[in-house]
Amino acid sequence: MKVENYRLEGKKLPIFTYPDQVLSAMAAPVTEFNTDLEKLVKDMLFTMYHAPGIGLAAPQVGVSQRIFVLDVDYDREVVTNSEGLDEVRMSNFNPMILINPIISGTSGATTFEEGCLSVPGVYEEVKRYKSIHVKYRDLKGAELELNADDLLSICIQHENDHLDGIVFIERLSNLKKNFYKKKMQKEKGR
Ligand SMILES: [Zn+2]
Repeated sequence: MKVENYRLEGKKLPIFTYPDQVLSAMAAPVTEFNTDLEKLVKDMLFTMYHAPGIGLAAPQVGVSQRIFVLDVDYDREVVTNSEGLDEVRMSNFNPMILINPIISGTSGATTFEEGCLSVPGVYEEVKRYKSIHVKYRDLKGAELELNADDLLSICIQHENDHLDGIVFIERLSNLKKNFYKKKMQKEKGR
């Protein structure tokens, strides 16, 4: 669902990091399409843009529900303002909101160097489907569907994994997966 007249407002939610329990849980479908849901999504978008990231799933902010937001199109630049201070400017927002998504068709294969706000500092190539077909609901609960290719397709698959309790490092080889698991656990333990 594309958001008409999007305004960058909301609050920054805390982002949970691997191996926090909520990231490995199977998220529950959304059943109530109400103002609480609208508020959560607004705050998720705000959090994603400020992180900054191109996608954010509800479990990443500690909410185990089948919701994610993404924007693979926006521009972000750091400019020096008239007082000589660095300022982040974002424009050309194209936020998308997918609720209770189901990937109902896949084709082709592609690899992309992925990162994740819940696994800071780790970037690794992951194999994904090149094209997907997705059925989902919008904020009002209406059923929609879309076809996605390339970056949008990759991003949807990455975010959809979060809803199934899968963090992208779990899609790497056993060797890399274990290396990052140990590294993250060690960092958390500090
Ligand atoms: Zn992620």
